[in-house]
Amino acid sequence: MSRIFSGIQPSGALHIGNYLGAVENWVELQHKYDSFFCIVDYHAITVPYEPADLVARTRDMAVSLLAAGIDPSKSSLFVQSMVPEHTELAWILNTVTPLGELERQTQFKEKTAKDESILAGILNYPVLQAADILLYKADLVPVGEDQVQHLELSREVSRRWNAKFDSNSAEGFFPEPKPLLTPTRRIMGLDGQAKMSKSLGNTIDLLEEPAQIWEKLRPAMTDPARKRREDPGTPEVCNIYSLHRAFSPPDLVETVAVNCRTAGWGCIDCKKALAQSMENDLAPIRERAKEITANPKMVAAALDAGAGKARGVAQATMKEVKQKMGLA
Ligand code: SF4
Repeated sequence: MSRIFSGIQPSGALHIGNYLGAVENWVELQHKYDSFFCIVDYHAITVPYEPADLVARTRDMAVSLLAAGIDPSKSSLFVQSMVPEHTELAWILNTVTPLGELERQTQFKEKTAKDESILAGILNYPVLQAADILLYKADLVPVGEDQVQHLELSREVSRRWNAKFDSNSAEGFFPEPKPLLTPTRRIMGLDGQAKMSKSLGNTIDLLEEPAQIWEKLRPAMTDPARKRREDPGTPEVCNIYSLHRAFSPPDLVETVAVNCRTAGWGCIDCKKALAQSMENDLAPIRERAKEITANPKMVAAALDAGAGKARGVAQATMKEVKQKMGLA
């Protein structure tokens, strides 16, 4: 069975953008692949943070993932810092990664353009990402098309290490991880201006109650051409229509498109229909999250089991890596 690895930031409860954009796919993929899903807290400490806050965000992310359908009996769900081999391999991979390649990474260039003082962790972040994947010798990494280039450095690092320390083997000790293209949706924030993101405050959390969701949906951006109820609209430019396509059954999506184009209903009616569709999908997840939150031992046990399996694979990888490199 092929192996996949994917990481997610400990950003607290999932919002519907990262649920629809990634986690919904993971829930499907865990039935087909040997799956490692990691809450990447070592990545999260490259920016200023409060330790107690990080603990809470990590726990809330774990609850969200379990409630969304990640099944600890099918996949290994764990927190990155529970498996210290991630940072051990990252250090080793730093020694085969040219500085110039890291300085060319888009995220580093964007940060240096904005901030005068940059921590070394930001520069080396992609090496830790490569270590995350290579530690498990993952064959595939689930990504959307816009993220394929992020994998290239991991592939390059794998080639460099293999060439230097495993040149006699035909296959290479580390596989070059390939993108597993998944039908990810890019969900825009409720302001319709940018991708949904906690840092922009334009999200709906996966576990929010219907009244909170409605408070956010009611003023959400629609097609600006629909100034009055009689104005026809273009559903394809409206974020509410995108959300219908994610949450509503196909016949309702069709009705939304027709009613929008013909001004057959007002945007508020359209949003009420969306709120109902979301409630149909999200209510069971919310209920599961309440049960899981009430049972913190179950969360700890799931993460411990996932970390145990991850450590087994990681330690075996590191044993061979160190042998091949002449380390003790
Ligand atoms: Fe958007 Fe619906 Fe209004 Fe059309 S009717 S603009 S899809 S909210």
